[in-house]
Amino acid sequence: DSLLSFRSVSKLYGDGPGAVRALDEVTVVVPRGGFTAVMGPSGSGKSTFMNVAAGLDDVTAGEVLLDGQPLHALDDRARTVLRRTHVGFVFQSFNLVPTLDVRENVLLPFELAGRRLSAEDHAWVEHLLGVLGLADRVTHRPGELSGGQQQRVAIARALAPRPAVVLADEPTGNLDTRSSREVLGLLRTAAREYGQTIVMVSHDPVAASYADRVLVLADGRLVGDHDAMSPQQIA
Ligand code: ADP
Ligand code: ADP
Repeated sequence: DSLLSFRSVSKLYGDGPGAVRALDEVTVVVPRGGFTAVMGPSGSGKSTFMNVAAGLDDVTAGEVLLDGQPLHALDDRARTVLRRTHVGFVFQSFNLVPTLDVRENVLLPFELAGRRLSAEDHAWVEHLLGVLGLADRVTHRPGELSGGQQQRVAIARALAPRPAVVLADEPTGNLDTRSSREVLGLLRTAAREYGQTIVMVSHDPVAASYADRVLVLADGRLVGDHDAMSPQQIA
């Protein structure tokens, strides 16, 4: 049962001889409930992979299916709806709304999806805020938080509505060791116990070792596809 699949996906930036092949015939199936790490050197296509997976970027060739739906066949509106109902993002730039406080930012996805919070949703949100060390910051605005705290708010926001898939670009990039472990543990639990699909870009072998699958990109090509690995094996 695949949640995300790439069928011979290529993405070119520009055209003619100067075009950059950011993704080059990438074929991969990400099953529901998997925790997949995407690794590779800078410029290897990791961010493009995430943008294309979310339908934020069009592909040049091939197709992407999200929860069985071919993204190219949907118009912008349908894609936006699919994204809001299925995808949680953790961007490198946190994209928090500066005028909303922490709790309002975390609840924003419910608002955008026009979804009322169930008792279970409320409990999950409070759990996330607690685990992520934000419980005493809920009325603060992003500008009053450290970078690490802002990142944790972005993670809480992505996980809060329990989306089918969470796309996380370097989610532990700004976190100290302890917060990183907590975040990675949360992502692993989301996959193992709640059947959410997690796709995480990371440079960090320790972070990738939390995943149950490690994809490796080089120059836009998928050059590695491994089962869970130890940090030593990855490095
Ligand atoms: P990574 O996330 O692994 O660093 P990216 O997906 O950001 O890699 O980039 C892959 C390649 O595509 C790089 O050569 C990059 O310079 C190029 N690229 C990415 N985005 C754009 C863009 N908007 N316009 C032109 N080239 C781009
Ligand atoms: P973290 O380890 O989570 O990144 P820091 O050690 O950087 O946190 O921040 C310590 C404390 O300082 C935090 O409780 C935070 O509320 C406060 N703080 C950090 N940056 C700012 C800021 N720009 N404005 C107000 N308070 C801040």
